[in-house]
Amino acid sequence: MIIQLDENTISKIAAGEVIERPLNIVKELLENSIDAGATRIIVEIEDGGLDKIVITDNGSGIDKNDLGLAFVSHATSKINNIDDILDVKSFGFRGEALSSIGIASKVSIISKTADSKVGYIVEDNFGEISDIKETASSDGTKVIVSNLFDNMPVRKKFLKSGSVEASRIYDIVEKIALSHQDISFKYIQDGVEKFSTSGDNNLKNIIYTLYGKSVYENVLDVNSNINGIKIVGVIGNTSVTRNNRNDEIIFVNNRYVKSALLTKALEEAFKPYLMQHKFPLAVLNVIVTNGLVDVNIHPQKLDVRFSDESKIYTAMFDSVSNVLSNASLIHHEHIDDSIVEFNDNKNSIIEPKPYKAVEINIDDIKSYKETKESNDNANKIDDNIKAISNDNLKQQNLFDELLNNGSELIKDTLSKNEYHYIGQLFKTYILVEYNNKFYIIDQHAAHEKIYYEKFMKELNSQDVISQKIMPLVITLNSIQHQVLEENVMYFKKAGFDIDFFGERDIIVNSVPFNILDIGKKELLLEMIDDFSKNKSLAGYDSINDKIATIACKKAVKGNNVLLDVEAKQLIDDLFSLENPYNCPHGRPTIIEFSKYEIEKKFGRIV
Ligand code: ADP
Ligand code: MG
Repeated sequence: MIIQLDENTISKIAAGEVIERPLNIVKELLENSIDAGATRIIVEIEDGGLDKIVITDNGSGIDKNDLGLAFVSHATSKINNIDDILDVKSFGFRGEALSSIGIASKVSIISKTADSKVGYIVEDNFGEISDIKETASSDGTKVIVSNLFDNMPVRKKFLKSGSVEASRIYDIVEKIALSHQDISFKYIQDGVEKFSTSGDNNLKNIIYTLYGKSVYENVLDVNSNINGIKIVGVIGNTSVTRNNRNDEIIFVNNRYVKSALLTKALEEAFKPYLMQHKFPLAVLNVIVTNGLVDVNIHPQKLDVRFSDESKIYTAMFDSVSNVLSNASLIHHEHIDDSIVEFNDNKNSIIEPKPYKAVEINIDDIKSYKETKESNDNANKIDDNIKAISNDNLKQQNLFDELLNNGSELIKDTLSKNEYHYIGQLFKTYILVEYNNKFYIIDQHAAHEKIYYEKFMKELNSQDVISQKIMPLVITLNSIQHQVLEENVMYFKKAGFDIDFFGERDIIVNSVPFNILDIGKKELLLEMIDDFSKNKSLAGYDSINDKIATIACKKAVKGNNVLLDVEAKQLIDDLFSLENPYNCPHGRPTIIEFSKYEIEKKFGRIV
């Protein structure tokens, strides 16, 4: 039956699309403050924004006459009609944020413009907008949000703990502070000031505040203009490496974005200088004219579209490459100097002055890169050798462990009275006589069981061995993406190293070593799908269980003829398990007939 939804439901759905979690509120309010020309913004949150979010700015303020409209859906001061969108310079223009926040929480706006003597306050309690009242206020706007999602219990349930929400907010405030160097930001979490920036338009000072001295001392300036595309900011030199992409921070026209294209260009430029699986630090603002970039993207989304991708790619790649090759030549030169002098001269890495002293020629760059590449290859081979010997060691340990653990059972049974392997039936079953009993073993199920136990043992052993792989890019659907995002810690614990990328993509850098030769992509997708089907599965044990179950299903060969030694090995392995009788899915691995039963069937015993 099709019914028309009532207004209340429709507005809640729309609000829920704009405001998914506290992070969205902070981002929207910060962008409003920036749009209002603020030079000082204070962000305060309590319990990850679940209790309270307060944003105070010294911007233009909202006129008394406009204050009543602020909470009205699609009311904005930033555009007049659709044509304005093409040239919009502000973050907002949809007029959706405040109305959505008002529907999902209790909000107060206190605001004063410079030419008004007094300030005004208006409140929105879950869509109920109050009258406007006079109140004391300094110039600018303060927005106070509380009781988030109290009227949408289901959505509230989906929120993470306060600390998880807080760390997401911390992250976005940092990024916004980095992208607006002329604004002073103060970020306060549960009463504790986490950082503040001065707004003196000096990126390096912000880097110092957020990343500390050692990063500050090892960044290189980027300031280029290629193809009419300006790129300004800093990159870490090759001593500042990261294990993930978190510190590859890219803005387009001061807006924080996630762009696979720009990230790729950045990483490719760094490639000759970084070890495999290491990532650079970069804070770069790409300034393009509005014609080159599609600004009409949804405010919640961080992706960005360019009309000429190769132009953008080249600009990023070239400007980063140039800075790195200059810097690395200097670095190279200094290798001959004494270490002490090199350390004393640390500034020469960040300051462009010594560039002139060095003759840069293309052959030098090439030969430097070649040496670097061959070093990298040598390192790769080293890594592989390490991995293989690790594997062997692990196998050996496992074998020892099996022998030790199984020894009692084996002693108990097999040593007293050696079993008799009769043979194989239908290429599927193994027939065994032992201790006046006749056993039929399902070789496939037995195999599976042995693998399963082996995997579980390894996974549950303290040191999960995570093996680097050629990075594997997988595009997920939105449900898979969300499920993975919410459960990624379990995957991490199990040995997966996964980076999120753009809206839907993930990059798998490492996998648990024991699934190395199994279809990793299928395995991962199957696990994610299983999680989404059965949310209650979320947990460390269950993911190990999942890996083991799926991995062994994929690892076990189909039914085939077994050599006697293989069959015997299988029997030995099976009987060394604590519970050899059921496969991981509960089917029996062994059926037992006593001599008595058989004799009864033949009428030997009445
Ligand atoms: P949008 O930003 O898309 O216009 P919002 O719902 O976020 O829509 O805000 C509605 C309007 O309220 C804005 O257009 C602006 O005029 C005003 N406003 C909101 N926040 C502030 C602020 N901090 N300072 C001044 N004006 C603001
Ligand atoms: Mg806005």
